[in-house]
Amino acid sequence: MNIAVIGGGYAGMAAAVTLAERGVPVTVFEAAATLGGRARRVEHRERALDNGLHILIGAYRESLRLMRLVGADPGRLLLRLPFTWRIHERLCLTAPVLPAPLHLLFALTAARGASLAERFSAARFVLRMRRQGYALDEDVSAARLLERNAQGERLTRLLWKPLCVSALNTPLESASAQVFLNVLRDSLGAGRAASDLLLPRTDLSRLFPEPAADYVTARGGEVLTAQRVTAIDPGGDGFTVRSAAGDRRFSHVICALPPYHVKAFLVGLTALAEVVEAVDRLQYQPIYSVYLGYPAPVRLPAPMLGFDSALLQWAFDRGALCGQEGVIGAVISAEGAHQELPHDQLASLVHQELQQQLKMLPDPLWFRVIAEKRATFSCVPALKRPESATPLRRFYLAGDYTASDYPATLEAAVRSGISAASMILESKA
Ligand SMILES: Cc1cc2nc3c(=O)[nH]c(=O)nc-3n(C[C@H](O)[C@H](O)[C@H](O)COP(=O)(O)OP(=O)(O)OC[C@H]3O[C@@H](n4cnc5c(N)ncnc54)[C@H](O)[C@@H]3O)c2cc1C
Repeated sequence: MNIAVIGGGYAGMAAAVTLAERGVPVTVFEAAATLGGRARRVEHRERALDNGLHILIGAYRESLRLMRLVGADPGRLLLRLPFTWRIHERLCLTAPVLPAPLHLLFALTAARGASLAERFSAARFVLRMRRQGYALDEDVSAARLLERNAQGERLTRLLWKPLCVSALNTPLESASAQVFLNVLRDSLGAGRAASDLLLPRTDLSRLFPEPAADYVTARGGEVLTAQRVTAIDPGGDGFTVRSAAGDRRFSHVICALPPYHVKAFLVGLTALAEVVEAVDRLQYQPIYSVYLGYPAPVRLPAPMLGFDSALLQWAFDRGALCGQEGVIGAVISAEGAHQELPHDQLASLVHQELQQQLKMLPDPLWFRVIAEKRATFSCVPALKRPESATPLRRFYLAGDYTASDYPATLEAAVRSGISAASMILESKA
């Protein structure tokens, strides 16, 4: 058995680590020079930024387990905060140290900035969903679910909408209510630690993919960067993987490419026609990250702060998180008019919104906008996602878009990689 993993994002590296742990020979092919894919380091003026500011949560059980396995200590590399929802000067709720679901009910009923009626309405909604096991008979949009449960405009705008958009990266009106409930079930609805927010204190390549590569190579595997695969040809009881470095033979392939790149490798394989159709049905949503470099004393009132403004949804204080004094990273998730703006204009509008809310902000010294136009698939109701196991023997898919009850997240990617590797390990063929 020797296995090719195509793609060195979180899914591919999770698959490679799972195989290396069991002593199975594995070779990772990654097209880019830096590992991590849609969660990777981007150098800017000798600073390590990320292509996108990421939040992890305590419920990311498998990501945290693999980080520990490869020696990337989550206690050191992630700032753990008890679930805190701070929409600047509008709403603030913090989960106290109480067993679930009391921590959440307390947080909701004690929320600052919400009326008594709103607080109890939110608590009633959570209790109702909990009673029905966070399961819907029929998937609808998250907006519909909230409307049916009388969550009201303000509560939806300040609490449920930002929660849903950050988790599913899909506008409330088209987001899957069931997937939103799955996230609520495993985070706010589960043990208190599961709802903790985990904010990276290092760049996203160092957080897992790079220590994972060290772990794989230390166990005899290979991780090849800047090695774009150009074809995967099945035949002769295995696969030929073609790249600029030449052709290599493997017994199994785990294809851990993003959905919009995977299709090119599947169209020639007739056994995979249905998989191609499932991938074709996916639509995508952008995420924009706007970095603003201020003179060093500039700080946010918290490491992560939510905003109820036209563009800005979240801002991260990179000084507080990873020692990059004066660097504020802002996130704009999902589609919107901002996609039409030139980057300098977008950066300037984000600066103005920050200034309106925080007051007394000096002009930024520099900016960098990173637009990930296909950051995640649109997580719409009743979406059928392709399975990891395919009709083609010994050919598996991994990636955040494969079948899972999670939206496109690091945890979905990691779980898919583990699952594809485990299927190979169990098949022993
Ligand atoms: C801006 C942004 C913000 C996000 N925020 C969050 C967040 O806060 N929390 C969260 O949990 N998730 C977040 N996500 C989602 C998360 O990053 C993704 O779900 C996850 O990284 C997907 O991992 P993957 O391994 O499935 O795919 P990818 O990361 O896309 O990995 C695929 C890899 O394949 C490589 N590749 C492509 N073509 C080839 C080829 N021909 N040969 C070899 N290699 C190839 C690519 O270079 C890439 O490294 C965010 C995503 C973005 C873009």
